[in-house]
Amino acid sequence: GIQTVWSLLERPVGPWLRIYQTGFIAFALVVAAVPGPAIHHQTLAYWQLYTLPVMVLAPWLVLARLREGNSEARTMVVGVAIFLATCVNDLLIDMAGVRTTRLVPFGFVAIMLSMAVSLANRFTGMLNELETKVAERTAELSTANQQLAEAARIDPLTGILNRRGFAEEAAAEILRVSRSGRGFTLVLADVDRFKLFNDRYGHACGDHVLARVAAIIRASVRDVDRVARWGGEEFIVLLPETEVEGAAVLAEKLRESIAENLFEFGGQRLSITMTFGIAGHRQGESLESCLARADTALYHGKEQGRNKVMIGSYKGLTLVNN
Ligand code: GH3
Ligand code: MG
Ligand code: MG
Repeated sequence: GIQTVWSLLERPVGPWLRIYQTGFIAFALVVAAVPGPAIHHQTLAYWQLYTLPVMVLAPWLVLARLREGNSEARTMVVGVAIFLATCVNDLLIDMAGVRTTRLVPFGFVAIMLSMAVSLANRFTGMLNELETKVAERTAELSTANQQLAEAARIDPLTGILNRRGFAEEAAAEILRVSRSGRGFTLVLADVDRFKLFNDRYGHACGDHVLARVAAIIRASVRDVDRVARWGGEEFIVLLPETEVEGAAVLAEKLRESIAENLFEFGGQRLSITMTFGIAGHRQGESLESCLARADTALYHGKEQGRNKVMIGSYKGLTLVNN
């Protein structure tokens, strides 16, 4: 009883109650060790006496917890009240000679049932809490997963999409084009003689310039356009619903603003140029095929002396600027 009531009401058993419990067990062991049934009859009254303190303490604890608003105490108090009433009933039969039915076994069932209900409530509460926690953790995990998935698409140096992120976006765009029929254009851009630039000004300076170039390109395009770092010093822009002529205008604007821009690093003001290769996506075409045309155009732009914008169509190449 002590173990159940106290733990149900979340109260420590404490040293005195422990001594009380151990004493009860020791007493029982002594009685069990003595042979013959006589001792059982003789000690019966003492057993009943021994249970008196817990009969007082348990209701007192239930009432104390009830006053604190404990919901399990509220359930148990019903059982305790029925049990005590049946005890009083049976005492009256024994001591005052009242002639009525003995009810203590029912009282005992009532107190047991109330404890069982309390325990069940407790488990339900714990289960609900657990379920809420699991739901919270699942939500946190899915947010973390989304963040991870997003991070895996972003280039850390420039903060724009990386090759993988771009490939995903381009695949989605190709799918859209197959439905809407409105094509897109790719602009591949590569920093001119960047190896030389790194050798001269250092890798840290090169990194700084790459981050700035990304910011300039990003700021020059529309929100719907996708900008990515395709490789080391190579960038790519996907312009949805845009013809090569429109892309060429943008690329030329970009070429100019980058060439005119002064990149400040370590007290120096440096400039670079970029070459652009443009290719319009044709319906049904793969990304690779379109990219290959942009790459060929870029390659020829380099050959033409760099700092150029070159359109690569399947009919041939067109230089936009001289
Ligand atoms: P080209 O005009 O023909 O493009 O000449 P390039 O020197 O730019 O071309 P190349 O492909 O020979 O060299 C690319 C250089 O870009 C090599 C490397 O030093 C530099 N680079 C690539 N990635 C990074 C990077 O993340 N940070 C820095 N600082 N440099 C990079
Ligand atoms: Mg280069
Ligand atoms: Mg390159």
